[in-house]
Amino acid sequence: MTLNPRKTMLICPLTATTVGGMIAMRDQAIAQGADAVEFRLDFLERMPSEQEFAAMLATLVAPAIVTCRPVREGGKYSGDEKARRSFLANAATFPNVTVDIEGDVADCPAAGSLIRSHHDFNGCPQDLDNLFAVLSIGGAVPKVAFTPAGPDEALRALDLLRQSPGMALAMGEAGLLSRVLARKFGAFGTFAALSAGQGSAPGQPTIKEFKTLYRWDSMGPRTQVFGVIGNPIAHSMSPAIHNAAFAAASLDAVYLPLLVPPGDEPFSRFMDALLARQWLDWRGLSVTIPHKEHALAYVGAARCDELAVRIGAVNTITIAPGGVLRGDNTDYAAAIDALCSAMGIARTGLAGRSVAVLGAGGAARAIVAALRHYGARVAVLNRTVRRAELLAEEFGCAAGPLGAAIDGDPEIVINCTSIGMHPNVGECPIESIPATTKVVFDTIYNPIETQLIARARQAGCQVVTGVDMFVNQAVAQFEIWTQRDAPRKIMRDVVVRRLTQTTGH
Ligand code: NAP
Repeated sequence: MTLNPRKTMLICPLTATTVGGMIAMRDQAIAQGADAVEFRLDFLERMPSEQEFAAMLATLVAPAIVTCRPVREGGKYSGDEKARRSFLANAATFPNVTVDIEGDVADCPAAGSLIRSHHDFNGCPQDLDNLFAVLSIGGAVPKVAFTPAGPDEALRALDLLRQSPGMALAMGEAGLLSRVLARKFGAFGTFAALSAGQGSAPGQPTIKEFKTLYRWDSMGPRTQVFGVIGNPIAHSMSPAIHNAAFAAASLDAVYLPLLVPPGDEPFSRFMDALLARQWLDWRGLSVTIPHKEHALAYVGAARCDELAVRIGAVNTITIAPGGVLRGDNTDYAAAIDALCSAMGIARTGLAGRSVAVLGAGGAARAIVAALRHYGARVAVLNRTVRRAELLAEEFGCAAGPLGAAIDGDPEIVINCTSIGMHPNVGECPIESIPATTKVVFDTIYNPIETQLIARARQAGCQVVTGVDMFVNQAVAQFEIWTQRDAPRKIMRDVVVRRLTQTTGH
């Protein structure tokens, strides 16, 4: 069996410490859908005997890569170099084996197919293009793995893949895009761990994540790309929601998490790098903390929706072919529409209604701006009263402290604080629901059923949960990007399933 260079292979590194463990991992990897396995001999407690090596290859139904990475290249092998090379030279004579030899080794095995590799666990080599070209001399598959400072640098891996169908992998969380988009650009392969913690390098998704989360099997050269920019971003539910929506709508598209360092400059650098590569087919971005203000500044007020400018935050960027940007804020619309749909009114029906908004942070700001835009009477109540006053002054509201009880006669109460959020699920921002209140909206979505929501139900109020808002903003993004109706139920199910799996609430 030989490696098929026309299909990007999902290669599972076998990182067990015993021969038996490696054989078991090998079979599990193939059963899970890996196209090839990589025997990482340097992970073994000792080098295998000839018989053991033969047993590792026997009954193998997929192509195999054999690697024994020395410590100097980030591997675990610290034994005799001559013995290592002689083992690999022998392995290269097997018909179904490709041997991985580091680029600094001069005397490569003459027989068999070869990968020539270079690894940088500290940064990105300056002469990356030249290095990649040199590694491919003699017909070997070039492989470089490096550590990008951010996803903008990870894009350099895709520049290399456009030149030659080898392997170019940016490691770590910021490098994820290079691992997933390897298939779009026809790479020789990408590495997929058998399970979390069993990978051979930082940032390898699991086989299951490639296949079920990142739509590996349906990816091709025309796949459109979307993603969510944030920091932190690892626990974002957006990739699961949007990829499920793309799959349900049979769209050739994938959605990735993008860990962009905080600050205006890293955000702009990433956007510049993205827009300079029109061939990426990048069509949209969700933007979350701490980059929503940077997104507004980058896109420019003239190309953003009016309320997004007033709020000072853009959470949705659309990239038209040619690189023209548009900025939207689906957070405020999501909140307002969740509220209006529960009340059975149009947005204009909010005019004159009395609303108490608890909190004065980013979520409160978006909701207060929208409520005022549609003519509601708003009181902002916050622990830090000065913050409430500033928000209230800006949008023409009343302000006050957040206490156990709410003064006034609010018909609607909206919690925009994090009180009651997982893990502090027993907490509630107010002791009792005012007698005048008919609708209670808690923007917290984890847990779905907060203390506040439970009390509101007991008091006979209509309730709106953070999940309603969360799903609405993702639905709105999908519809802005694709100009189609979103598969709302599927998207909601993903959110609810994720929340119940991760927290049990
Ligand atoms: P933020 O900007 O950090 O604001 C946090 C707010 O919570 C501030 O008003 C803060 O008061 C208050 N707060 C935090 N801890 C408190 C405590 N122990 N006691 C009293 N007040 C406290 O955060 P954000 O982005 O606005 O998010 C706020 C909430 O909205 C979160 O629970 C988040 O889950 C939710 N949210 C939901 C969605 C959705 O789609 N459902 C979207 C965005 C946000 P101080 O000003 O006094 O610090």
